[in-house]
Amino acid sequence: MKSLKENFQKAHIVIIGSGIIGKFNALELSELGFQVTIIDPAQFQNSSNAALGLLMGNMYQKRRGRSWDLRKQSIELWPKWITFLQKFNCELDIEKPLIQLTTNEEKFKKFEKFINENNDLNLQIIKNDSKIIKNLNTTFQTKNIKGIVSHKDGRIDAKTLLKTLDTYLKNKKVNFLKEEIIEIKKSKSQWISRTRNNEKIKSDMVILCNSLKAVNLIDNLSYNIVLKPVLGQAMEINISDAEVDLLSLPKQFNINGKNIIPKSKNKLIIGSTDEYSTKPEENTFEKLTNFLDKKPNWLTKGKIAKKWFGIRSRPDGEPSPIMKNLENGLIICTGFYKNGILLAPACSKWVANEIKSYLC
Ligand SMILES: Cc1cc2nc3c(=O)[nH]c(=O)nc-3n(C[C@H](O)[C@H](O)[C@H](O)COP(=O)(O)OP(=O)(O)OC[C@H]3O[C@@H](n4cnc5c(N)ncnc54)[C@H](O)[C@@H]3O)c2cc1C
Repeated sequence: MKSLKENFQKAHIVIIGSGIIGKFNALELSELGFQVTIIDPAQFQNSSNAALGLLMGNMYQKRRGRSWDLRKQSIELWPKWITFLQKFNCELDIEKPLIQLTTNEEKFKKFEKFINENNDLNLQIIKNDSKIIKNLNTTFQTKNIKGIVSHKDGRIDAKTLLKTLDTYLKNKKVNFLKEEIIEIKKSKSQWISRTRNNEKIKSDMVILCNSLKAVNLIDNLSYNIVLKPVLGQAMEINISDAEVDLLSLPKQFNINGKNIIPKSKNKLIIGSTDEYSTKPEENTFEKLTNFLDKKPNWLTKGKIAKKWFGIRSRPDGEPSPIMKNLENGLIICTGFYKNGILLAPACSKWVANEIKSYLC
């Protein structure tokens, strides 16, 4: 029997899709010594490039079950990967902490219960008379913003992360094909991935990381995987009110479900990830900025500098994400309708463990 190392060195793994999930799998598997090929016709036009990069792990309130396990594992893995990836880009980092805010009394009671029950020093209720809350209430022209802070959570810039992974993968000489895969087939013990240009790429294993389109490549009568498109939208807003200094606010926070990142004194990004649609609607500004009973004047007068969106895949009838060993040598890792950036390390580790046990 061949040694594990020999199997690893010989095995060629094709990863279909090069969003954060495909690229992170390529990182994990390259570090283990596999030969990796990533295939994607449009690596810059995916939902990973649209992501705001919030890592909301430790403040997740349901602290049991698969979703929590994946979050917990990712929170532990992120610092190690950041240290590793900083060799390829010293600017890559996680900006902490992350703040979750609400103006709803019931919701705040749930936050309080969560913090009191968990006795976790990294999670705290933000005192009402604190400078943070005072600044938020003054800036948003309200009185009832309350919230919690998680010192273990934060934000990574998604574009910087993807670029750093590209540098790493190039350095590791990972093959990259700018092609669309239209069919995968098993022939004896090998997998053949056929591109739209009829090129055939042979491999020992295939990992499907191509989001919504993954179901087009499998025999779905046997697997019955249903993925629905979920739109996520974000925009950058310029404000003209000299009285308001957006840099006095926390570096990243969520308020009544909207993610906010102040970029400069008069520029902020707002994003939301909860719409069932594939086309952004005309009233994006209204939808993203109506998160308080009364919109502050500076926000009403704000001007959209940029807007963008991404389509994620949401599993229907089963929890997100879908991570399954479909058959010998074929793994699916998709359905990240939320939190794909956060969960990439834990999910790639799961894939690597499946591959190790398949090859042993
Ligand atoms: C506005 C917005 C904000 C977000 N904010 C956050 C956040 O703050 N934190 C967080 O953790 N997550 C966030 N997300 C979610 C996150 O972006 C997704 O969960 C994640 O990007 C999913 O990654 P993915 O690799 O599965 O898919 P994608 O990034 O969509 O990549 C799939 C890739 O597959 C390729 N592909 C498709 N079909 C084929 C084929 N046949 N052959 C070859 N390649 C193919 C596509 O071209 C694409 O590049 C946000 C998303 C959006 C849209």
